[in-house]
Amino acid sequence: MIELKTPGEVDAMARTGDVVAGMLSTLSVEARPGVDVMELEHHARDLLADAGAESCYWDYAPSFGRGPFRNVICLSVNDAVLHGRPRHHVLRDGDVLSLDLAVSVDGWVADSAVTVVVGTAHDDDDIALIDSTRRALDAGIAAAVPGNRLGDISAAIAAVAEAEGYRVNTDFGGHGLGRTMHEDPHVSNRGRAGKGLRLRPGMTLALEPWWSRGAPDLVVDEDGWTLRMADGSMAAHSEHTVAVTDDGPRVLTVPAA
Ligand code: MG
Ligand code: MG
Repeated sequence: MIELKTPGEVDAMARTGDVVAGMLSTLSVEARPGVDVMELEHHARDLLADAGAESCYWDYAPSFGRGPFRNVICLSVNDAVLHGRPRHHVLRDGDVLSLDLAVSVDGWVADSAVTVVVGTAHDDDDIALIDSTRRALDAGIAAAVPGNRLGDISAAIAAVAEAEGYRVNTDFGGHGLGRTMHEDPHVSNRGRAGKGLRLRPGMTLALEPWWSRGAPDLVVDEDGWTLRMADGSMAAHSEHTVAVTDDGPRVLTVPAA
């Protein structure tokens, strides 16, 4: 079931989104060469507490992971791309780090992810990869308007990937969210324009293009969570929470104006 949010509820989700955006901004800047990934996890816990927010990840035990998850942020390094379980790893210059964060404030969830290069990029292709997921996210957001269909979002995301030769894996994609982190509908990163559920004001969706410089196949680390590219290729992930409104798409995981 898809719960349509009132404008006031969308505003509440935007307040959560402000917390998520602020935390991701702070933690991305702290992700410098020589910093242990676990330092970011621990700082994220402190920031959550300061904001009066709850982690959507802690104790999460879905079918696709070996639960319960006991961290508050997903940190995926280099060829790891989704659900990266923080572990002791000292970041090196040129590492590609994805930070993915979903939190709840006053009962409303927001979910966002950014990918950054730690220090100085060693390969311009890593920058191009990250940029492609950001542009795909922008394209998906632009398609999140009343009257469009879910397939328009998916097709817009995939078009950016395919134009640049990146291959889309449809096993994991975006999702509805609101009172909880993962709700209907699933939003694939590939689809047919004009097909699928019609978008209506009050729908709130997390859009999250991700892909790698190589083949789209994933393997799971021994931790039971971290999804890594099977061929070891560098990967990137960008995500925002967006509301479909009468005035167009409203991105909720940005700093409050
Ligand atoms: Mg996320
Ligand atoms: Mg998500």
